[in-house]
Amino acid sequence: MNRPDDCLFCGIVAGTIPSQTVDSDERTISFMDINPATRGHALVVPKRHSTDLMDVDDEDLAASIAAARRLARRMDEVLQPDGFNVLNACRPAGWQTVFHYHLHVIPRYEDDPLKLPWIPRGGDEDEIAAIAEKLRT
Ligand code: AMP
Repeated sequence: MNRPDDCLFCGIVAGTIPSQTVDSDERTISFMDINPATRGHALVVPKRHSTDLMDVDDEDLAASIAAARRLARRMDEVLQPDGFNVLNACRPAGWQTVFHYHLHVIPRYEDDPLKLPWIPRGGDEDEIAAIAEKLRT
């Protein structure tokens, strides 16, 4: 996809917007999030522009999850968190605010303030089965 002139993460990839870059490879770069959810929160971004999960190239998708795991392993050594979340926000309803596909790598600590954003409770079995049937066909 063509790079939009006003894409923030394309600017970071190009080096025209500053970032605290921590990792890069042929397809991705990773840098610290300026609004960290927890200590060490970072982002993995394919160098090639795509808008979101729906249009990211398959190889960039694979490279981004590989880079996320590499970064998580590095954080594990350096920051010694208790766990991780790897998160993608897709479209505004899915919390996306920067429209260049990326993964969040969020180290988790037993005493951090993050909460599960849904309440796990039993769903309607018929509805679950009906949706599963639609997804299968
Ligand atoms: P999302 O809301 O999932 O699209 O994630 C976008 C993320 O980019 C947010 O967590 C922001 O804090 C982060 N962010 C925005 N501007 C910058 C920047 N200049 N450098 C690093 N992270 C940024």
